Amino acid sequence: GKREGFATIPQVTWDDIGALDEMKKELTNNIILPILEPGRFEAFNIASPAGVLLYGPPGCGKTLLAKAVANASKANFISVKGPELLNKYVGESEKSVRQVFSRAKASAPCIIFFDELDALVPKRGGDSTNQVTERVVNSLLAELDGFEGRKQVYVIAATNRPDIIDPAILRGGRLDKLLYVPLPTNDEKVSILEALIRKTPLEQDVNLKQIAHDKRTDGFSGADLGSLVKESALNAILTGKKTVCMGDFNHAMNKVFPSLSQKDRKSY
Ligand code: ATP
Repeated sequence: GKREGFATIPQVTWDDIGALDEMKKELTNNIILPILEPGRFEAFNIASPAGVLLYGPPGCGKTLLAKAVANASKANFISVKGPELLNKYVGESEKSVRQVFSRAKASAPCIIFFDELDALVPKRGGDSTNQVTERVVNSLLAELDGFEGRKQVYVIAATNRPDIIDPAILRGGRLDKLLYVPLPTNDEKVSILEALIRKTPLEQDVNLKQIAHDKRTDGFSGADLGSLVKESALNAILTGKKTVCMGDFNHAMNKVFPSLSQKDRKSY
């Protein structure tokens, strides 16, 4: 993969993402259009928000969506994992936050993707906070508020735990949309499988609908479906075939299990 923290335009397109149609629409209206057609927004004098916060269970497409938004806007993409910015030395973490934003401005139009935002901005005064995190929250808020001069820099943040994030981050003009990226329904699983097998040579007998509705794929995330496709292809390769057949998927469904337990699924 690409080195983290460096700006490039990602290769991921909408076609790589199954389901999530509502999400694609929201992101198009809130980020892609303002980047591609800024004039349409300026004329009405509405301040564009700094970005959006995606939340939901792991492996359901948050990172893919952020990359596809950058691709569709022809914007550079800077990916930052929350915990990586935290540094125990006083002042270092805030400096890192400022550096991310100044790099983004220098490569505008640019999308900053903050993954695991909860590590970076936990509720102030809560259990997991300390001086470092309090100062990081403040510096991130300052950057988001200073977005008047930011123009073509947008933030897409992601978390599995919106409940432990400092609510100030979601106040007007900052990350002002909270968008839920859910586990897929069975029909959505068909759409995700279609996206995942686009570059896989398939036998006629492969029935994606049957796979999506098979009990063994209950509770599968997009990432689990990705593992299933990979496992099926591996089985075809190792048995000396040139295409993947339904038998390979059946084999894979006995080997790949949902990464979220039933209990965890209910908590999202
Ligand atoms: P995390 O919370 O763990 O960071 P995430 O929500 O960001 O997870 P992604 O990294 O976007 O999840 O997805 C992981 C992998 O799962 C993708 O690379 C892709 O193979 C597959 N995947 C997940 N959701 C979808 C989807 N909607 N369509 C196609 N593939 C998907």
